[in-house]
Amino acid sequence: MKNICILGSTGSIGQNSLEVIANFPDRFHASYLTTNKNIGILQQQIERFHPRAVAVLDECSASLLKQTMNGAVNVFTGEDGLRELVSQGDIDIVINSLVGFAGLRPTIEAIKRGITVALANKETLVVAGEIITQLLREHNAALIPVDSEHSAILQCLTGEKSDDIARLILTASGGPFLNMRKKDFTSVTVEAALKHPNWKMGSKITIDSATMMNKGLEVIEAHWLFNLPPEKIDVLIHPQSIIHSMVEFVDGSVKAQLGMPDMKIPIQYALTYPERASSLYNRVDFAELREMTFFKPDLDQFECVQLAYDAIREGGTAPAILNAANEVAVDLFLQRQMSFDRIPHLIAHALEKIPVKHSPGLNDIFETDTATRTVVKSYGLHLT
Ligand code: MN
Repeated sequence: MKNICILGSTGSIGQNSLEVIANFPDRFHASYLTTNKNIGILQQQIERFHPRAVAVLDECSASLLKQTMNGAVNVFTGEDGLRELVSQGDIDIVINSLVGFAGLRPTIEAIKRGITVALANKETLVVAGEIITQLLREHNAALIPVDSEHSAILQCLTGEKSDDIARLILTASGGPFLNMRKKDFTSVTVEAALKHPNWKMGSKITIDSATMMNKGLEVIEAHWLFNLPPEKIDVLIHPQSIIHSMVEFVDGSVKAQLGMPDMKIPIQYALTYPERASSLYNRVDFAELREMTFFKPDLDQFECVQLAYDAIREGGTAPAILNAANEVAVDLFLQRQMSFDRIPHLIAHALEKIPVKHSPGLNDIFETDTATRTVVKSYGLHLT
């Protein structure tokens, strides 16, 4: 029996993870669950899965839950509580589905204990890829991607030598504004940006998909996971989201991983890796699908992808600047304090203004994150 800790169990990846775990009652136990403040859903999860302990980040919500549960489950509070859970729990696998930079510290905590991390929080690798890679080696820990593209590449690379890779092809749906002209980005509403054509996800990643920053972050994530230079990582638009990514090899062969757009498939693969287990998830019906189409992304229309390539080529803290600026910009857009087309503008501004540190330590990453947020917030509000 493997004890699973789900960081962010009430979000979209967290809920899907619990559905996967529910299919394997003899193999996995949802031992530790956490939420920011969604205690209604957490309470249902506690009743259904009987975790050993839970953590609630928001202090008011934590004390409310304590009252309701009346000692029936151990409730940890705040960021310290979450850290305590990861550093002291009896855990075999941590599924990290926290949103944004907040996912970094718990990932490090788990790696230091040699716990396997199933990573859905791509920002961890974007901001601190070099440090994480180093820590994984030092502590002999495993990090398995949950992100569907990276799960696809991992599956394509099974049994292959890294020297035989010619390039990775990350597929992208293109999001809801694939066919919109760039000049119309000024009038994009929050509601329109939150409607993703193929995937049902949390609000931050859905906006990242609309700007295609999600694909930019995934290029950086792939760079660290598979140790390849950005020149060997391409982005290809594939609106049907059936091919989740591909690997081209030196002999011209291409391997692709296909499946229905359902996050339960990559989540299950991360939990059973390197094995597979049967499931009843929906199958691809090729005759019904009839066609799959592909085209090159327009990097002038979706500037965020280009900004991400620039940041990873620059290296050091540049991707941490890109990430912090993007988190603030997305937040300002979601709060309706800034228009959609301003998002890449703010990120470009941050990359220009904040000095990049090369070979950064963890402290440099945290300092850069804080400094970038301050600069971008005041600049973003000043613009409107
Ligand atoms: Mn993805």
